[in-house]
Amino acid sequence: MELAGKNILVIGTKRSGIAAVELLIKQGARVQAMDENPLAAEEQAKFDRMGVPVVRQAPENFAPNGQFADMIVLSPAVPFDLPMLDPAKKRGLPVIGEIELASYFLRGPVIGITGSNGKTTTTALTGHLLSECGIACQVGGNIGTAAASMIDSSKDNQWNVLELSSFQLESIFHFRAEIGCCLNLTPDHLDRHYTVERYAAAKARLFETQQSGDLAVLNYADERCREFAKRTNAEVYWFSVSGEVPQGVSMKGDELRFNDRPFMRRSQIKLRGLHNVENVMAAALMARLAGAKLDLIGPAVQSFPGVEHRIEFVRELDGVTYYNDSKATNVDATLKAIAAFSGNLWIILGGKDKGSDYRPLRDPLRERAKAALLIGAEPPYPYAAAPLIKKALDNAVPIADCGTLQKAVKYAHANAIAGDVVLLAPACASFDQFENYEHRGATFKQLVAELF
Ligand code: ADP
Repeated sequence: MELAGKNILVIGTKRSGIAAVELLIKQGARVQAMDENPLAAEEQAKFDRMGVPVVRQAPENFAPNGQFADMIVLSPAVPFDLPMLDPAKKRGLPVIGEIELASYFLRGPVIGITGSNGKTTTTALTGHLLSECGIACQVGGNIGTAAASMIDSSKDNQWNVLELSSFQLESIFHFRAEIGCCLNLTPDHLDRHYTVERYAAAKARLFETQQSGDLAVLNYADERCREFAKRTNAEVYWFSVSGEVPQGVSMKGDELRFNDRPFMRRSQIKLRGLHNVENVMAAALMARLAGAKLDLIGPAVQSFPGVEHRIEFVRELDGVTYYNDSKATNVDATLKAIAAFSGNLWIILGGKDKGSDYRPLRDPLRERAKAALLIGAEPPYPYAAAPLIKKALDNAVPIADCGTLQKAVKYAHANAIAGDVVLLAPACASFDQFENYEHRGATFKQLVAELF
């Protein structure tokens, strides 16, 4: 892709946007940035230093003086179908995402990992397994470093292990993963994709852009993942926690096997929950397909410390254990977290609603929870989840309206007895009361640390 002297407009001024701008400047392009929100002083200074003007996201700013840019690059947060992009698209201007831009310059093969839940854990684990098995790799994408910032450190014989969200995948054409993986697909982000079908179609792009000789790693137990096998030229390998697979990784009793060869026992996995067994299977399979020796994979899995905010053990106080699963930002992740414990749960739920159906939580909570402690901004805030959760859980489990995380932690501490588990797994986004899920998780850990 020749960019020297081209005028490029980058929409979105956070991590991926900045990475795209830096890459474009290195390629000799003239860059302008756009954002719907005014930039914080620190961010503005960054753009000033790069000599990149930032304009407000408005229709009239797409073609000042009637002149459109030569190409538009979108950050993952910017929807591909943003109506403001229509005039540019009508003129045939290329509109691409940051990951697509990076793919023209990234050296070395790619492992692309997507799914509704488990992406970050599996991406970090896959990177860990490759490194432990002596296979060169760098890890990034939706996790940590943006792909556009990984170009300089990329090498022909080094894997790029990328976490990919549906937002990043919906607009790929040139981007291609030598190994593509989808862990699972459950309804999420319907506020952006509208229907599960369109959400699945975005993820399917990962497999549709693969070529013969590439490899797809899919969850055999997940209906929607199985569909992807029909939409790829790649050879498909499977993983499943519930039975045999045509080829790939399966579990027999306590044994995890690659085809017929056992490589570790489930009981050796330190991460809690069956969903993490799936993550381990997928990561082990990808590591194996990338060339890792099978007998090195088990020990490498055991030395993986886990990822912060994912069913993370925080503290034990008076026999009560506290777990932080702030990253459970949808119902499915919360269901998995509940299933990872045998019972006696005080679960903290609520936050910003994403159009979710909370009724699937009823039965598991009836079975395993002592109470649901609700947090989150309250109406008239338009996306308040707490009233919806309350309605969905009616009569299934005792409910305490706590409002804030502080009050919920206090309530749990006052009521829990030895053997109980206090679990933050809110099933909602955090933006009503926190900057993001990390902020929510860190606040929880701080509050728990202060208990006595
Ligand atoms: P993602 O990057 O896809 O959001 P994470 O690894 O950050 O995935 O985990 C997100 C949430 O989903 C956490 O609450 C975690 O406990 C849960 N989770 C992790 N792996 C899985 C899985 N394979 N299936 C369902 N839920 C999972």
